[in-house]
Amino acid sequence: MTTTTPPATSARVRAITESVTLAITAKAKALRAAGEDVIGFGAGEPDFATPPHVVAAAQAAAADPAMHRYSPTPGLPALREAIARKTERDSGLVVSPDEVLVANGGKQALCNAFLALIDPGDEVLLPAPYWVTYPEQIALAGGRTVVLPTDAASGFRVTVEQLEAARTPATKALVFVSPSNPTGAVYPPEEVEAIGRWAAEHGIWVVTDEIYEHLVYGDARHVSMPVVVPELRERCVVANGVAKTYAMTGWRVGWTIAPVEVTKAMTRLQSHTTSNVSNVAQAAALAAVEGPLDEVAAMRETYDRRRRLTTERLNAIEGIVCPEPQGAFYAFPSVEGVLGRTVGGRTVTSSLELCEALLDTAKVALVPGEGFGAPGYVRLSYALGDDDLARGLDRIAEALA
Ligand code: PLP
Repeated sequence: MTTTTPPATSARVRAITESVTLAITAKAKALRAAGEDVIGFGAGEPDFATPPHVVAAAQAAAADPAMHRYSPTPGLPALREAIARKTERDSGLVVSPDEVLVANGGKQALCNAFLALIDPGDEVLLPAPYWVTYPEQIALAGGRTVVLPTDAASGFRVTVEQLEAARTPATKALVFVSPSNPTGAVYPPEEVEAIGRWAAEHGIWVVTDEIYEHLVYGDARHVSMPVVVPELRERCVVANGVAKTYAMTGWRVGWTIAPVEVTKAMTRLQSHTTSNVSNVAQAAALAAVEGPLDEVAAMRETYDRRRRLTTERLNAIEGIVCPEPQGAFYAFPSVEGVLGRTVGGRTVTSSLELCEALLDTAKVALVPGEGFGAPGYVRLSYALGDDDLARGLDRIAEALA
């Protein structure tokens, strides 16, 4: 009799692919550790240090024995209150603290939302190019992601017509993110409103990711969907966090704002997964969201300068077309025009191969569009130091000359 050994891991985790962004970042870091001068355009993280008053608040919290204990799963009461105040200050959404759940980064906040809202078989509409994590989290919840492609010609923005064409009786939710990772697209207020009204009319939940709310440039303006469409409020989860706004990616504090019933459900879930977020990190987040936005404004100015430089330099390379991003800190150029060319002695036929060739030969780490559901494109984060940015762009131009 033959016996077959069942696989060690569950089908659930076998179906998950590694984050392509983190994988390329890890490869770049490993090369750097081995002494290579690699310039990383991969990670979506600010190069700035966390503001000093935030660090000081964390230091004080670490020395306070009251902070050495478990605290309430949904967050320190003072932080939940401060997030409610900050949300009203920044986007005009009036929130009660019991609608706020503090999680371990925006990532866990989103995962809580999908696990709390989605049943097996539910369909979730996801405009592409999308951030790599959404489809994996939706799959973990048993949901079926329905991808809605957009391109540079449409400004990487989905339309109500596309949404309506994809709607079925199984459609449970829409993922909406503006400013967007990876494209930097920002939806104008009237489009946010039209999409919100469509969702409200059809009883479709919206998970709206506002993590880049403060990083908009030029005439672009961030508006919060439940503010412009108040009737959506009862079917909307807002996800946000301190990572991008305050240069706090490593502190791991994010949150959701959702109707109380959903917040309670997500809190039950989190009480069995991670419990409260580190109290020290919560104290830091409290100082960040309660504090002024002037350091954020200074960082935004720097990103804006780097954004213009990056777009200009990329567009000067024959075969690359880079629309000007309006938000976040990513450029998302099409590289279709360079495919088929020889880079570092090998012919590249896809954006994935191009990124591999650029990393191996020009020592620059870019993320291939394949992971974002957008082959033919690459993503560059311009949240890296000015010198590295200029040197990295030189290297790309040279490699593709
Ligand atoms: N949402 C988007 C669109 C992101 O780009 C990121 C991070 O890259 C997150 C959420 C999660 O951020 P964090 O978990 O660091 O708070």
